[in-house]
Amino acid sequence: MEPFIYNGLPSRVIFGAGSLEQLDREIGLLGAKRAIVLSTPQQRAQAEALAASLGSRAAGVYAEAVMHVPVETARAARDFATQAGADCAIAIGGGSTTGLGKAIALETSLPIIAIPTTYAGSEMTPIYGLTEAGVKKTGRDLRVLPKTVIYDPALTTSLPPALSLTSGVNAIAHAAEGLYAQDANPIVSLMAEEGIHALGQGLPRVMQQPGHLAARSDCLYGAWLCGTVLGSVGMALHHKLCHTLGGTFNLPHAETHTIVLPHVLAYNRAAAPEAMKRIARALHADDAAQAAFDLARDHGAPTALKDIGLTSTDLNVALDLALRNPYWNPRPVERIPLRALLEAAFEGRRPD
Ligand code: NAD
Repeated sequence: MEPFIYNGLPSRVIFGAGSLEQLDREIGLLGAKRAIVLSTPQQRAQAEALAASLGSRAAGVYAEAVMHVPVETARAARDFATQAGADCAIAIGGGSTTGLGKAIALETSLPIIAIPTTYAGSEMTPIYGLTEAGVKKTGRDLRVLPKTVIYDPALTTSLPPALSLTSGVNAIAHAAEGLYAQDANPIVSLMAEEGIHALGQGLPRVMQQPGHLAARSDCLYGAWLCGTVLGSVGMALHHKLCHTLGGTFNLPHAETHTIVLPHVLAYNRAAAPEAMKRIARALHADDAAQAAFDLARDHGAPTALKDIGLTSTDLNVALDLALRNPYWNPRPVERIPLRALLEAAFEGRRPD
């Protein structure tokens, strides 16, 4: 076996249907007394019900989380937490809400309890993002890693099927790139393959029956593992491209990941054969790139960038931006093959 470095990330995970009932105990275990509850406007009712269930431990609800964490929202949330005398923050929702919690923690070191309701995986990473004047900056800081994560699959049955699918493929993308990461290691690769397998099993069943709790459990377990991979090893071309496309053209996060992933896997196919074998095995398929495409197409997810708002002019801008700062990828990132990749993703062609 080749030498490797493994960095474990310190977080406590409570997993299982009904585990939300343990929230009060978990707040106490952190030594906290007053929690603010964060959510998006769409999940305000859920956040308010949660705050009501906490009684005197609730310090208020801040339901203004939006995509990409604008710095103004982060400041307002931090001020709200300070004025409410909060000593802990609960983030109930997807990556946008967890991201807001992280932005508060970055400034205040307030402990975060994350209660994820999508498969984005942000709760398992020390990565934060903040958008100022239209530019999104990301960074790593252990202060933003949620101290406790409560995974309750019952909270995910309301996630609409279309978003469940794209959010699940977003998670698979973390694991897929983790398998061929420059700093990949055997422990994280185990989590990556198991995470893809769990999502590959769960997602088709969720699409047929969104309320299927066992299938939802599989997906959330897979999302946890894939999120851990994202937090533990470096990402490559896929995440770089999605960051560029999402940030510059304001494309929807999970859909963009879903469309781009098969094409990046095809791009990296010959350069990372072992990773491709493991992805394909996890999805019970012969080819990783085609399996990722089929999973999306067969269940009605968008497969073409032109269908989610990108124009052919944008494609040229994206190409230039993606080539601007060099970064590691198993296959060198070069203009001509990258253009072919983007064109295939634009048109929604199944990888050969
Ligand atoms: P999101 O958090 O924006 O959620 C999308 C919508 O779905 C929101 O309106 C939300 O309220 C709603 N929703 C969430 N769960 C629901 C449920 N169970 N039932 C009904 N509605 C529900 O989307 P996302 O894809 O989870 O997160 C995307 C954001 O997270 C992006 O900004 C991305 O950059 C970030 N992200 C960060 C990391 C990281 O490590 N820092 C990792 C992954 C994603």
